[in-house]
Amino acid sequence: MSNIFPRHTKSKLPVAVAGDGAYLIDSQGRRYLDCGDAAVSCLGHSNQSVIKAVQDQVEKIAFAHTGFMTSEPAEALAEMLIQNAPGNLDRVYFVSGGSEATEAAIKLARQYFLEIGQPDRRHVIARRQSYHGNTLGALSAGGNAWRRAQFAPMLIEMTHIAPCYEYAEKPDGESSFDYGQRVANELEDEILRLGPDSVMAFMAEPVVGATLGAVPAVDGYFRRIREICDKYGVLLILDEVMCGMGRTGHLFACDHDGVVPDILCIAKGLGAGYQPIGAMLCTDGIYSAIRDGTGFFQHGHTYVGHPVATAAALAVLQELTSRNLPARAGEMGQKLQRSLEDAFGQHPNVGDIRGRGLFRGIELVADQGSKRPFDPAKGLAGKIKQAAFAEGLICYPMAGTRDGRVGDHILLAPPFVIEDTQIEELTWKLGKAISTVL
Ligand code: PLP
Repeated sequence: MSNIFPRHTKSKLPVAVAGDGAYLIDSQGRRYLDCGDAAVSCLGHSNQSVIKAVQDQVEKIAFAHTGFMTSEPAEALAEMLIQNAPGNLDRVYFVSGGSEATEAAIKLARQYFLEIGQPDRRHVIARRQSYHGNTLGALSAGGNAWRRAQFAPMLIEMTHIAPCYEYAEKPDGESSFDYGQRVANELEDEILRLGPDSVMAFMAEPVVGATLGAVPAVDGYFRRIREICDKYGVLLILDEVMCGMGRTGHLFACDHDGVVPDILCIAKGLGAGYQPIGAMLCTDGIYSAIRDGTGFFQHGHTYVGHPVATAAALAVLQELTSRNLPARAGEMGQKLQRSLEDAFGQHPNVGDIRGRGLFRGIELVADQGSKRPFDPAKGLAGKIKQAAFAEGLICYPMAGTRDGRVGDHILLAPPFVIEDTQIEELTWKLGKAISTVL
């Protein structure tokens, strides 16, 4: 008997009792290679530096409300994030997770335009098949039909343009570059349709995670998006909650695309699972508009800038940078891609193997030639998740890849400390799960 309200009422879950590097261990002593806890665990589950940082901070001071006091770890973490952040990102607003980061980003965009005397700017444009979190504002930005459906009457009106989803949506005969420019130009069309003076922000994930399965944009796409935002004075909000903090081979995923956002959201890998924490970074221009205007951002949660959470994240960031782990994620990611291609490249139901760094996706199809997805009634993604778990592998399969209803992919996000033998283990266990289900 449990009094927990679980994610799924009919599943019976093992109890996690320990962690050992890339493995989670349950109360029966079973070990699970953790390659998909939604891309949180970047340092594995037993990083001694982070554990010690948490312990030390709890001993010093666990909590001080940021309405009254700041704290040493929060100050140090903000400084280190900004030292490493691209372009003119200058200020960090700490929150407790990804949805809080994107929610804060949307509200900051709105307040910024009020501060600079453009109160008509209120529209957010995002993309189909994106995920930005589960609170109502974040869910409104997200473009995944299935996640939105039952809450639709309560969502804020936001509009969605095409994702940059080359495998399924680029027609034969069009170059990757041209395709990227064409779908980026949908942003301009949408801004003009809504009225340029009414649009405040465009929000996107540099590499789309949960809803598309590790899909990076094609070359040139985000540079064109940046140009369009600049042309119309629209803020670019990049959601790196899942793909950021080194996972794609760069500390900030947008570094790969050569663009700097006005607001950037991170979470997951920032705390690496040792503490719940997220953050929203913004430019000096946005911050000074607030500072020189109202003087405060009309937002906040009790736990913003929590000392223990920021102490953990500071230790995580020190580990990431001092051990050059984003570069390692890039290198091991190449190995993982090769291993997946060797194992599944010829599989008749594997349509695409893609991603960047240690953020990889496998898209499953009923027919490789036509890229036809499986009948969603087969419930493929859920079955693969169960079969992989039974093999001792945690991965993140998801249905609805194409449009929120049809399509299946498997998302893989192993820790950056993964070893060669564990990449073999991952591929082998995944292969067993796929063949059990298909
Ligand atoms: N944004 C992206 C891109 C995500 O992948 C997620 C979670 O998966 C979120 C936002 C929401 O983060 P959280 O679940 O921490 O609220």
